[in-house]
Amino acid sequence: MGKTGGIDLGGTKIQAAVMDENHTAIGSARCPTPASEGPEATAAAMAKMLRDAASAAGVEVSELDGVGIGTPGEMEGDGVVANVVNIVDWKDPFPLAATVGEALGGVEVKVGNDVDVATWGEFKLGAGQPFDSVLGVFWGTGVGGGIVLNGELWGGRGSAGEIGHMVVEIDGRKCGCGRRGCLEAYAGRRSMEAHAKHLVEKGHKTKLFEIAEKKGKDHVTSGVIASALKKHDRMAANLLEEALQMLAVTMASAGNLLDVDAIVLGGGMGTRFGPVYLEELKTLMRPHEFAVEPPQVVVAGLGDLGGAVGASLLIDATTATPAAR
Ligand SMILES: [Zn+2]
Repeated sequence: MGKTGGIDLGGTKIQAAVMDENHTAIGSARCPTPASEGPEATAAAMAKMLRDAASAAGVEVSELDGVGIGTPGEMEGDGVVANVVNIVDWKDPFPLAATVGEALGGVEVKVGNDVDVATWGEFKLGAGQPFDSVLGVFWGTGVGGGIVLNGELWGGRGSAGEIGHMVVEIDGRKCGCGRRGCLEAYAGRRSMEAHAKHLVEKGHKTKLFEIAEKKGKDHVTSGVIASALKKHDRMAANLLEEALQMLAVTMASAGNLLDVDAIVLGGGMGTRFGPVYLEELKTLMRPHEFAVEPPQVVVAGLGDLGGAVGASLLIDATTATPAAR
């Protein structure tokens, strides 16, 4: 096994990394997801980030054994992806693997579900390594989940692990999926930002949007929220507290159902706030946990690059994960 590439297509950003023979990232690059520009522009940005990651690593793209992509949406086989709801004009099937592969000079490209590859990455290389069964919770723009049971990914009939759409409040806040009261409607970064906007329109004060502008960000990113917390912004604190509470209830409930060895908390928000609020999260989970010894809760070990590192495992036959489901 030689060097590999991995690309994580997120709702907010594209992250690419080049891994050495031991799956350690030796170069990386990131850019905002051109979500308003459609699949062609997104594929071009992904290829560019991978090339940038390769040059940061001092490696030619042609030297790579292949490039794995973790993406949201529906896998249609042969690297074709449909229904990426976060990106405009990406309802119809789009040949993602072929397009990125061509832009990278013909290197082999494989595509997998973003949360599956991230969970598999944590299971094989990260915080999930000591365990046989884990639930991965990826708290970022949205909230995704992946399940490994006895060493194998559990995909259900194609839609397992949708922890972000477990209901935390009947008839509650509107979720991006069109339903109401989902975890994601409270804890997803995009929903938190939308709720903050709503509160500002109602006359509440916050520094969130001012900080985003100062940082040159189009969105209230996890970094913007962190800065607002440092400035004792009450709205940011309330939004984060609510997100943690809803995450805790859902993670405890999922633990009651699955009784896995561990729950691994990752994603852009999870890797930023997880280390700081892990004890609080556990305390919030405790009243809802059925088992005397509930699943351990650990923060993802691969950090923010976990999605890209996990995606690169699509290329390694010895750690093969279901490439398409
Ligand atoms: Zn939902």
